[in-house]
Amino acid sequence: MGDLDFVQRQQLALDKGRLIHPQYQQEFEKAFSVCWHKTEHSLGGWALYTAATRQSSYAALQRADKQVYFAGEHMTYLNARMAGAFESARKTVAELHARVTGQRVAYAGI
Ligand SMILES: Cc1cc2nc3c(=O)[nH]c(=O)nc-3n(C[C@H](O)[C@H](O)[C@H](O)COP(=O)(O)OP(=O)(O)OC[C@H]3O[C@@H](n4cnc5c(N)ncnc54)[C@H](O)[C@@H]3O)c2cc1C
Repeated sequence: MGDLDFVQRQQLALDKGRLIHPQYQQEFEKAFSVCWHKTEHSLGGWALYTAATRQSSYAALQRADKQVYFAGEHMTYLNARMAGAFESARKTVAELHARVTGQRVAYAGI
């Protein structure tokens, strides 16, 4: 769908939606769509890993570099979910807390 222009995408959505709700076209007012993987500075709606990049990039990003930590849905297996962002935030805060207080507290990352 990302290769379609906006009008074509809207029409496709209406055509498919009408298969489920026949009144779709009559009730339609406005549409909005974003092609995330073609959006500058974003290049995607969420993180995608392969089995190989889970072992390389993902594993490396999990480790803090001095005071630099990464947190977000991209740092979990719950990609494309707000739950991933929350889990990652809790894990990162637990790691920071453990570092500055000298505790050995671990949060089970997912
Ligand atoms: C179309 C779409 C539909 C979705 N639907 C759902 C859904 O139904 N249910 C669900 O659970 N999840 C959904 N998600 C996923 C969910 O929105 C994300 O997983 C979640 O918002 C990720 O949170 P985050 O904190 O990791 O990252 P983000 O919310 O992306 O936050 C990152 C923040 O960092 C900022 N930033 C980036 N670079 C810099 C910089 N250099 N300096 C300062 N700030 C910077 C950005 O502006 C942004 O505010 C959807 C996502 C998309 C795109």
